[in-house]
Amino acid sequence: MNALAAPTDLPPLPGGLVEHGQRRRDWAFHPLTGALELALAEATEAAQDTPGAVTAVLSQALARLAGEPPQPHRVAALCLADRQFLMRQLAQHLDEDLGTPTPQWLSSRCPACDAHFDFALDLATLPVTEAGPGYPWAELAGEDGVTRRFRLPVGADLSELAHQPDDTVEAWLLQRLAEAPDTLPLGEPAQIGAWAARVEAALDAIAPALVLQVQAACPECGTAHAVDLDPYGALRHRPDTLLLQVHRLAWHYHWSEAEILALPRPRRLRYLQLIDQARGLSA
Ligand SMILES: [Zn+2]
Repeated sequence: MNALAAPTDLPPLPGGLVEHGQRRRDWAFHPLTGALELALAEATEAAQDTPGAVTAVLSQALARLAGEPPQPHRVAALCLADRQFLMRQLAQHLDEDLGTPTPQWLSSRCPACDAHFDFALDLATLPVTEAGPGYPWAELAGEDGVTRRFRLPVGADLSELAHQPDDTVEAWLLQRLAEAPDTLPLGEPAQIGAWAARVEAALDAIAPALVLQVQAACPECGTAHAVDLDPYGALRHRPDTLLLQVHRLAWHYHWSEAEILALPRPRRLRYLQLIDQARGLSA
């Protein structure tokens, strides 16, 4: 077996990292242990904001990103869709039950009859829009005859965006995304607004994207309506179930917390099954 071969069962990043003049879309998570699950929850709690939490969590969960170790600055250099894509993959990874992917349960309230209902959604079946030509750059011909290039925003931009004063955000982002910011004619507020609209449209045309909304039909009255999907649902993953499992295994086998947390998740779940079976036999 060739150890350098990329695993083929993982879908590639919709955008990917461009480093050393090469675009790479491969990635892999660490095998899931209780220790990693706890570390992810702690990284989420310690983060200042959502972009920071996404960078911290993915840096820990990933074993490899675009052929290299997933240092936080490389995770922060991923475009928005890639970060959402990996967080959705992580949500599925965290919910895997003994190797079988389990559907996510979503809740909705019908806008017509107000009925509350839950429905299951297999995130792996949702389509992904891949990056357009020129990624991560979009070209824009200005009225002055100059063609300028702008890049897609990445995680680091989102983190810093939150700390910009509201009235300067548009100009700040344009300068940051432009390949040659000094050539941008942004003297007048109206120019800033016009450039922002054109750059946004040009970037949208090449941006990879995930499905962030699905249609659901109300089981009571049949009314179809849109339900938003949170791409960062994995940030809400709490280790309560894990701690209960640690407690049960420690109680039964007298292993230390560190030993139990080091177990690969499938083995931990298998031991819990064995405890259940033994109890069934003795009942
Ligand atoms: Zn209804």
